[in-house]
Amino acid sequence: MANFVSNIVEDGTIVAINNLITNATNIVITCHVSPDGDAVGASLALKHVLVQLNKNVEVVTPDQCPKSLQFLPGIKTIIPYSINKAVADKKIHEADLIFCLDFNSLYRVDKMAEILSSASAYKVLIDHHLEPEDFASITISKPNLSSTCLLLYYVINQLKLSDYITNDVATCIYTGMLTDTGNFSYNSNDADLYLVISDLLKCGIDKDSIYNQVYNTNNESRIRLCGYALDQKMQLFPDNHASLICINKEELEKFNYEKGDTEGLVNIPLSIPGICYSAFFREDDDYVKISMRSIGDFPVNKICEKYFNGGGHKNAAGGEFYGTIVEAELLFKSILFENNIYFNGNSK
Ligand code: 5GP
Ligand code: MN
Repeated sequence: MANFVSNIVEDGTIVAINNLITNATNIVITCHVSPDGDAVGASLALKHVLVQLNKNVEVVTPDQCPKSLQFLPGIKTIIPYSINKAVADKKIHEADLIFCLDFNSLYRVDKMAEILSSASAYKVLIDHHLEPEDFASITISKPNLSSTCLLLYYVINQLKLSDYITNDVATCIYTGMLTDTGNFSYNSNDADLYLVISDLLKCGIDKDSIYNQVYNTNNESRIRLCGYALDQKMQLFPDNHASLICINKEELEKFNYEKGDTEGLVNIPLSIPGICYSAFFREDDDYVKISMRSIGDFPVNKICEKYFNGGGHKNAAGGEFYGTIVEAELLFKSILFENNIYFNGNSK
């Protein structure tokens, strides 16, 4: 075990997980809908470890993984529930152990919630979101950690499985640490983070290549969509320190939108002096997907919980709005005054 790894997880919990793994034959790993680098990275990292212990392991995601993660080792073996429900149902049914990674509430697995809650397997939740629901046999919840991948790194070490952190495992773990901190630009002042990265580098990862594959791999229509969104669709509300970008389906189709193409867009307005609260609304088939980011004390998770059927972290949250995108925009504008209690005399 890397010598700086502290006992983040209680010994009793580690013993219990160890027993569940030892006694399991078929293991399923799952994560939240619209999986990001942390969700997919943690799922694949854990799979690569457990496979070395001769377990039958399947990663089942509620829907497809974004293009920007296609370089992750093992990604082609993932079963997306939305595409291959029959196989996914069978694997979940056969599993004697299910790891739930990077989500805190059953509804975050979308249409998989029913089968997951009725599955007879033991469930182990490993997550870093606030206020986890009590649906798993064992819950490891560490909201003070910046990513589930970081937490998983500690868990793997505490389970004394660090010898199984191969280059593939380390690549997956590093990817989640990278994407959940915006390339270590937020939630990233924890000194231990860099000790973990040092250890992952010693396992052979190429961190520069991982960065380039996640963030510097674009196609023309994506770049044009982002340009259009920023030039034509960004609304600024300087009095409220806020920004909003709404993109409807017609616009998305015009730019041949593919899942993940608008990833990161919500962060850009925060680079404008005085803007501390940014929202991005994207019209989907039967709802509007909400993404919010903030700098400082403004808790976007509270706004997402209260008005947009969602939640998340203080500075990065999301949700869903059931109505038209125009109604979502009107609601956003009508609640802008709520910023004032946080921002009055407190602007950056
Ligand atoms: P993103 O804006 O990247 O889609 O999501 C940012 C964060 O917000 C996620 O890491 C997750 O914690 C949270 N989040 C996003 N969408 C939802 C949602 O629909 N419900 C909840 N509870 N949280 C969400
Ligand atoms: Mn995460």
